[in-house]
Amino acid sequence: MSLDRREFLRASALAVAGVPLLKSGLGTVPQEKKLGFALVGLGSLSTNQIAPALMKTKNCRLAGIVTGTPAKAAAWKAKYNIPDTSIYNYDTIESIARNADVDVVYVVTPNALHARDVIKAAKAGKHVLCEKPMEVSTAQCEAMIAACRKAGKQLAIGYRCQFDPTHLECFRLAREKVLGDVRLIDAAFGFPAGDPGQWRLNAALSGGGPMMDVGIYALQSACLLTGESPVSVSATTTKTDPVKFRSVEETMTFDLKFPGGVIAHCSTSYKVPGLNRFTVHADRGTFGMEPAYNYGGNRAWRSDNVPFTTPPVDQFAMEMDDFANCIINGKPTRVPGEQGLRDVKIMMAAYESARVGRVISLV
Ligand code: NAD
Repeated sequence: MSLDRREFLRASALAVAGVPLLKSGLGTVPQEKKLGFALVGLGSLSTNQIAPALMKTKNCRLAGIVTGTPAKAAAWKAKYNIPDTSIYNYDTIESIARNADVDVVYVVTPNALHARDVIKAAKAGKHVLCEKPMEVSTAQCEAMIAACRKAGKQLAIGYRCQFDPTHLECFRLAREKVLGDVRLIDAAFGFPAGDPGQWRLNAALSGGGPMMDVGIYALQSACLLTGESPVSVSATTTKTDPVKFRSVEETMTFDLKFPGGVIAHCSTSYKVPGLNRFTVHADRGTFGMEPAYNYGGNRAWRSDNVPFTTPPVDQFAMEMDDFANCIINGKPTRVPGEQGLRDVKIMMAAYESARVGRVISLV
């Protein structure tokens, strides 16, 4: 991945100044050297998770905002002491190019707007962190990757679980066959969707229902536990409330077949409460997490009762610190746009499978 020379010079300058280079999110840089993040879209996730997490990071700081709502701009300005020169709306976002205080743009808008915002950020010469799902079509994902590559900037997807030590320990148990070869994975994430007017139920903005929103967590778990990408997908959708769910699926199950022989059975729903787990069935035992996908308070277990000793973390703070470290050290992110594109490809194939009623090959 080609990276801006400025980033390498910045890393070198820190080293020359006696500041240790960052390793695995453990290092801390001086306040003035922290990478500036600008948040695009000040909705629920930005307000309740990302901005508070930014305050806990070691290597990042909140440097700017992009919002279409003047009242939000005023409230954020007051709360986080953001200068007027670092407050943008969707029409002025391009001028962020002239703001040296902003190193990274974090896109937190509805799914079908990600390409619009990521491409503008890349053209403005910024690294980009984009929330999941990456976009609502593979063509949009490819355009985002191309824009960041052309700008020589990194593109990461907000797959927060990949920065949670408990999830990472589960991936290790599976891949190192600690309880034997993994044969079956069962993964599920869903919740009853409330407000019928929300963008998540409007396919034009969401690209789909629970699959795009939270089924993607089950999909990610299956890929990360196996360390593989699936070779085929078979899916079924169902709808019991065709008014509320007129443009998206209400519930979906999807089976993924992996090249090493593992099958993952995944479920997602906007109707059913209590779907929040993964279970890994291996030759000598089982392990998993339930709840698995909350922002905090998840619980991991093993059938041999060996306790998990992984610490609780703020997943978003870990994710942003890791991206900052990758940028400063010129290392590729573990959650690149290419991974987001792969997942959108699989989700689109799952929708096709549900539509045509047969297994769809992914190879
Ligand atoms: P939200 O509805 O609370 O916020 C979306 C923001 O986008 C709002 O501030 C809204 O004003 C703004 N926006 C800009 N243009 C818009 C338009 N044309 N229509 C509607 N809104 C517009 O949504 P959210 O829950 O914050 O989700 C935002 C993104 O973050 C989504 O991609 C979602 O999938 C993702 N997300 C990720 C996680 C996670 O755990 N990683 C959790 C929740 C949401």
